[in-house]
Amino acid sequence: MSIIYALANQKGGVGKTTTAVNVGSYLAEWGQQVLIVDADPQANATSALGLDKHAIPSSIYDLLVQDVPLARVIQPTRYERLSIVPASPKLAGATVELVGLTRREYRLHDALRGVDTENGDGYDYVLIDCPPSLGILTVNALTATNGVIIPVQCEYLALEGLSQLSRAIELVRRALNSTLQLRGLVMTMYDVRTTLAKQVVEEVKGYFPGRVFNTIIPRNVRVSEAPSYGEPIASYAPHSAGGLAYATLTKELLLGDGKIKAPAKNC
Ligand code: ADP
Ligand code: MG
Repeated sequence: MSIIYALANQKGGVGKTTTAVNVGSYLAEWGQQVLIVDADPQANATSALGLDKHAIPSSIYDLLVQDVPLARVIQPTRYERLSIVPASPKLAGATVELVGLTRREYRLHDALRGVDTENGDGYDYVLIDCPPSLGILTVNALTATNGVIIPVQCEYLALEGLSQLSRAIELVRRALNSTLQLRGLVMTMYDVRTTLAKQVVEEVKGYFPGRVFNTIIPRNVRVSEAPSYGEPIASYAPHSAGGLAYATLTKELLLGDGKIKAPAKNC
């Protein structure tokens, strides 16, 4: 069975795409079969993995609106074990088009149902990169997942919007997907030089006790450069502070999911 996570936060620019792409690529590098689903019309995950969003033959739009089967929409990337359901700008119109379709909140869920039998071996992880809104695309993502990962930028007003997001998750859990869990919050773009960043982390931990990943992602210029080369940090700058942090976060995720074991102490 695939583990399906949605990277969600209705705020833009908090690190959803960066986290989906970089965690996804470390998971793949370490042997997991990974599918990234780009559910944002901006198609940033698609371009960050080196695909041209204007030249892809079919996209998540076709999957959601035209009932094109998943296998025809999945594209390989340059990286082993890492595939993507790309987004295209056409997806922006899907918000309106989905309204008239049956099971409109379940379109992605239904499309991913076959994900386990894909090629006979299936995916270990599916990571859905959500758009910066709580509209029908994010609802589709939350309905299709086992868990939500919420990237939170370490800045002023970080908590703003998180209670609304928590409420949305609760509503989806009650009405559409009873298995939905909050997998955790990831603090991103941490600036060691400011006391504000430290305060923000403490504040978010206070609101979500035990739910914040131990690994904090620092603000790092290599992380922001990598997408313009169409590369994840695992290949662009694995030894940078950002590369090391995303590797550590991925390990923490694998450990929490029971995919790897913690090294025994005292050895
Ligand atoms: P979202 O998907 O939530 O809108 P992104 O992942 O696209 O956010 O990140 C917003 C911007 O911040 C992007 O330009 C990205 O390259 C940059 N960014 C993300 N994480 C970091 C980081 N740790 N250090 C520096 N820049 C970052
Ligand atoms: Mg994004």
